[in-house]
Amino acid sequence: MKNPFHIMLIPTLGCPARCTYCWSSEPGSPVMSIETVHEIVEWLKKFRTDRVTFTFHGGEPLLAGADFYRQALPMITAGLQHLKPEFALQSNLWLMTPELADILAEYHVPIGSSIDGPEELNDLQRGKGYFKRTMQGYEIARTHGVHVRFICTFTAQSVKQREDIFNFFLKNGFVMKLHPALPSLRSNQPGHWALDPQEYGELLVYLLDKYLDHMGEIEIMNINDLFRCVFTRRGSVCTFVDCMGNTFAIGPDGGIYPCYRFVGMSGYILGNVADHPTLQDLQQSDAWKRMDRYRQYVDQTCGECSHIRYCRGGCPYNAIVAYGGEDKGVDPNCTAYKRIFGEISDRLNREMSEAPLMEMPPFGAASKKNKKHGIMSLVGMIASR
Ligand code: SF4
Ligand code: SF4
Repeated sequence: MKNPFHIMLIPTLGCPARCTYCWSSEPGSPVMSIETVHEIVEWLKKFRTDRVTFTFHGGEPLLAGADFYRQALPMITAGLQHLKPEFALQSNLWLMTPELADILAEYHVPIGSSIDGPEELNDLQRGKGYFKRTMQGYEIARTHGVHVRFICTFTAQSVKQREDIFNFFLKNGFVMKLHPALPSLRSNQPGHWALDPQEYGELLVYLLDKYLDHMGEIEIMNINDLFRCVFTRRGSVCTFVDCMGNTFAIGPDGGIYPCYRFVGMSGYILGNVADHPTLQDLQQSDAWKRMDRYRQYVDQTCGECSHIRYCRGGCPYNAIVAYGGEDKGVDPNCTAYKRIFGEISDRLNREMSEAPLMEMPPFGAASKKNKKHGIMSLVGMIASR
């Protein structure tokens, strides 16, 4: 199970890559000091008592350098022993070195990296040379014992090559996690790359079928998460729970935000770690009240939806960007969520009513080639992970 309490550390918003659809990097951004990490530890000592996951995010977090991680990781581990900290890092791997890989391996820091498919397609979206640089970093990380997964961003253009992309992940034995491209606020054509919600929904159904066709040969994390939501009727990733109050992001200057996506947006600062605020202090901020209004808006707007328990209106950031911070709509990917949650629910109901319980595939059932798997096969597959 994932820890509900999640702290995202943003050592910098800077990034050496210039992906065409990126909305989160900021050239010239400062880098977090080790004193700020010390303040984070002091702040969290009394903030909450449950297990916590720290994710280093960006921008590009490896820009902080090996010295930063050599000091930050033991400082957090020792200072917050009672919270049993776990770590993760999101990076394009361009700056990976054997030294950095050794430090990350020592603290069991898995990495989420980004590749959008075969080299030509990837570099068209992320810039020439991106693929080679990421793969060089991947080799360093892998050979030093760091676990790497790839996130694939599907854009309005690349979705047309969904089969090539799926086959690329399958052939290379990569676990797939996907993101739909969001409208970039930095682009003069913000919608050019963004994946239309309806297409996103169809893509998820397509990947569900491919996943069942290739059961045991590939893992698609989003499908696991979506299935888990419907099956347990509880959200299992931030998009499908009330993330407010469980997730916080810390910017390079120690500013506290609701999530990494808000870092640098002045209207969404909840406080600063140097003040060691309590949860009640953060709840007094205008940013918290604004996010809380959105939560109430979801309760009203999605109240009649059969998926509300495990969808919770999707990602607040997506809604805020789409409607300029006004409560005029939920996450525009609602269309996609309804499509895939509906598809999973229908298949589940059908299979459960058609097959006597005795005939359900056992937990951990092995994959059989050429056998058409039903959606209930995912129970065994997920349980065996
Ligand atoms: S704002 Fe969106 S991305 Fe950020 S924690 Fe919430 S659901 Fe996740
Ligand atoms: S599927 Fe759409 S209407 Fe239903 S809870 Fe999610 S965002 Fe709201």
